[in-house]
Amino acid sequence: MDPVDILAIAAHRDDVEQTCGGTLLKMAELGHRTGILDLTQGEMGTRGSAEERAREAAEAAKILRVSWRQALDIPDGRVENTWENRLKVAKVLREMRPRVVILPYWEGRHPDHYTASKLGYEACFLAGLAKLDIDRALSSQSASFGQIASAVASLAAGEKQSAAKGSGALAPHRPFKIVYATLYFDVRPTFVVDITDQFEKRFESLMAYKTQFSDQEAGKDIFPARDEIRSRIEAMARFYGMLAGVTYGEPFLQKEVGLADDLMALPVKSL
Ligand SMILES: [Zn+2]
Repeated sequence: MDPVDILAIAAHRDDVEQTCGGTLLKMAELGHRTGILDLTQGEMGTRGSAEERAREAAEAAKILRVSWRQALDIPDGRVENTWENRLKVAKVLREMRPRVVILPYWEGRHPDHYTASKLGYEACFLAGLAKLDIDRALSSQSASFGQIASAVASLAAGEKQSAAKGSGALAPHRPFKIVYATLYFDVRPTFVVDITDQFEKRFESLMAYKTQFSDQEAGKDIFPARDEIRSRIEAMARFYGMLAGVTYGEPFLQKEVGLADDLMALPVKSL
């Protein structure tokens, strides 16, 4: 598996398309390799099966020029910040070795969203712990009392295998930067990415989720029609764009302060 430069982690398929899809496309256009890790497979959704959503997610990823996308098997509607789930995410971080991780913001209406934020942050920390053997921790986690013998056997086999492979595959890795996509929550972003040139493709990537967003009868009261979605998405992108003096923008927050070398080069005008 080739590593990625930027990895977006989100609870549900189509979260990334709504919160930072334009940014991922822009980063791909700049020559960076991007990836998406969805924590769940969407089996609780009102519309469409998990299989349909998998196909749609692959289509959306293609539109956003994302190099790698995968969904974990964490239950939809039950994203919990457990040791096992942190290990699963940390394993992906070690495999994909991103420099930048995009997480959802840590507050919000949907528990899966804000839990994914904390889970993602703690997984980023874990992934960097040199003494943590993730495969071993995961297999001891999933072994029930009756399975211990076989787990021990496969552990020994795994050890031989990883010794043969060398230390490359799952070496510790900690991302350099974590940023939070804040679109789902009313909080002032610390920076905005200009997605004026990516807006149409980003909308198209969301529309790739045909089971969710095309005009149809099932779930009509929950899901607004396509034109209504378009107006909402556009209004949000316009609002955040306006804050930064561009047409369309996606909002982000970083916990760290910004660093400047040249005051003359600071963007976004004051008056
Ligand atoms: Zn979601």
